[in-house]
Amino acid sequence: MTHEPTLEYARHCDETDPLRAFRDRFALPRGDRGPLVYLCGHSLGLQPLAARTAVLEELDDWANLGVLGHERGRRPWIHYHEQLAPGLERLTGARSGEVVAMSSLTVNLHLMLATFYRPAGRRTKILIEAGAFPSDRHAVVSHLQWHGLDPQDHLIELPPSGGELVPEDAIESCLERFGAEIALVLWPGVQYRTGQAFDLARVVGAARRAGCVVGFDLAHSIGNMPLALHDSGADFAVWCSYKYLNAGPGAIGGCFVHERHGQATDLPRLAGWWGHEIATRFRMEPGFRAAPGAPGWQVSNPPILSAAPLLVSLALFQEAGMQRLRAKSVALTGFLESVLAPLRDEVQIVTPADPDARGCQLSLRLSSGGDRGRRVFERLGASGVVCDWREPDILRVAPVPLYNRFEDVFRFGEQLARALKEVS
Ligand SMILES: *Cc1c(COP(=O)(O)O)cnc(C)c1O
Repeated sequence: MTHEPTLEYARHCDETDPLRAFRDRFALPRGDRGPLVYLCGHSLGLQPLAARTAVLEELDDWANLGVLGHERGRRPWIHYHEQLAPGLERLTGARSGEVVAMSSLTVNLHLMLATFYRPAGRRTKILIEAGAFPSDRHAVVSHLQWHGLDPQDHLIELPPSGGELVPEDAIESCLERFGAEIALVLWPGVQYRTGQAFDLARVVGAARRAGCVVGFDLAHSIGNMPLALHDSGADFAVWCSYKYLNAGPGAIGGCFVHERHGQATDLPRLAGWWGHEIATRFRMEPGFRAAPGAPGWQVSNPPILSAAPLLVSLALFQEAGMQRLRAKSVALTGFLESVLAPLRDEVQIVTPADPDARGCQLSLRLSSGGDRGRRVFERLGASGVVCDWREPDILRVAPVPLYNRFEDVFRFGEQLARALKEVS
């Protein structure tokens, strides 16, 4: 699809957008000089207006019921995670029992690694992508060390081929060559820095043919792209809910465990009482009996005040429909590409051009040497554009189909062109 990089065209797209009313259901940040152009949903999604009511209702139940809110709250706290599961199942393509909202991304990653990283014999290594999000790297390195293994020899970081991207066939050949030594593959659904989206089923296929366990970090995928986790055959996945899921800073995260493991309640894990079989949890007996499925990996009772916004956010996703959101997302990001085309001498798009190989984010390299890129980013901020900067030279921009307009994308292009002209 070709897009015309004009304001008229953007306004026409906005007027005919079947999802345009969803924008009114979000709090839209304002700066000193009016509304901001917010293109930072890859870092922190905007607040659904209903989140405030949802949190206040839980505060009211707590005020009025005290401990009785566990059973008699309007959304009883004991079963709270069960109310979040259907929306998460839909977004991740999981079966009943395969997902649970719990803890936070990095904690969930540790919990999954405790179960699924079991180095034995020759098969001791972990494969991740070079340039992985630091928290993910810290987590896997700490598990290697926990097992007494030297990360120098046991962490394989697959570099990009040629430019910045990692084609799936490079993952496949790495696993064909070294798979027998690899215990676990941890891969991003969408790479946070480049915006590259991976074919999860292909990654899983390659990992499983090589006999490796495979898990995904979906921080930048969930709520951004349609997912089919069950069918992919992945062993596990983890995510946070404050990026494209719009559940608020530090919101409760989530976790997927494929059903072929969910019934194996004797799998070793770092256990806590909330993962205990629910029927007998409150007998408070000393022995641990895991609940079946992903809920058996819960450790603590969930933070209700950080889970309430997720509940309303999941309802918005259901109402809008992931297919419609994705169709709009492909168009918005395509429009962003055409708005950037006239700037191609100064702005290189790092993210793949194929819509199937990216979500909504484009990562832009401002290649001008020195700190000019950073100053262009600062100039954008001063002009009311919110995006972010990854050292040394990447500007990340994400038009989010739930609340961004084509006009936002046009305004961004205008401000970027101005900043490039003004900052020398
Ligand atoms: C955002 C993000 C995280 C954040 O981890 P928290 O535990 O939620 O603080 C981790 N990994 C990746 C890839 C991310 O994009």
